[in-house]
Amino acid sequence: MTQIVPSAEPITQSRTVERQVVGKATSDGAGVKLTRVLTQSLQRRLDPFLMLDAFGSDQPDDYIAGFPDHPHRGFETITYMIAGRMRHRDSAGHEGLLENGGVQWMTAGRGVIHSEIPQQEEGVMEGFQLWLNLPARDKMTAPWYRDFAVADLPGFVTDADVAVTVIAGESHGVTGAVTREATAPLYLDLHLPAGSRFTQALPTGLNAFVYVYRGAVSIADSSVPAQRMAILANDPEAEGVVIETTEAAKVLLIAGQPLNEPIAQYGPFVMNTEPEIYQALSDFREGRLA
Ligand code: MN
Repeated sequence: MTQIVPSAEPITQSRTVERQVVGKATSDGAGVKLTRVLTQSLQRRLDPFLMLDAFGSDQPDDYIAGFPDHPHRGFETITYMIAGRMRHRDSAGHEGLLENGGVQWMTAGRGVIHSEIPQQEEGVMEGFQLWLNLPARDKMTAPWYRDFAVADLPGFVTDADVAVTVIAGESHGVTGAVTREATAPLYLDLHLPAGSRFTQALPTGLNAFVYVYRGAVSIADSSVPAQRMAILANDPEAEGVVIETTEAAKVLLIAGQPLNEPIAQYGPFVMNTEPEIYQALSDFREGRLA
């Protein structure tokens, strides 16, 4: 992350914060404690995103059981491991180790069965899993995945010393690890020093949100504390978002092009219609998913 770029995408008017959301404490997999930040009730508002989970604990009992074999169909999962080590195995024979700053991008497509199991018995495990929808025409595409070690992730530092990791999309002329045409996802991890400012251009049509995981930030006239998601209004006059800090902060900035298609979800299957969900369930039960 050595490239220095000019600080600005010039933005005269920032998007405002439409709503702040506190995540829901829950558990998933074999009992992993996590906070569901983007819940099912926000899927329409934040289309094309389906879910964001934040996990973070230094108590092994909270994470050690991991996520044993389970299926997915119809969308993509993006796992960003801030700290810790997790091994991934899937029914196609792929295997990978995700650790400290790495990202795994998995396109479930027509289906995978996989496991996600911590490879540590103590220490901190912290990260995020984001679910990104696939357009109807791609839901039954072949499964795909790729692991990116931290050194493989594009990034840059602005002249305000904001360190930016570009997981997806494009920021300040730097193209991310993954780009997608239909959903145009932008996924940035921003490390902002105290007293800094970061601007990001965002076309009005994109749905966007910020999740603060350290410190606090200001957006337009709102302050957003840690462990809070701020949904950004789709203000037609705003060219993007301006994020400012008085204290040091770390935030995810996520945006995407809505698909405006019906969403039918049953657990790990996200399709467009109920019959497609029944098909996914029977394909899974009869071993046709892997
Ligand atoms: Mn999974």
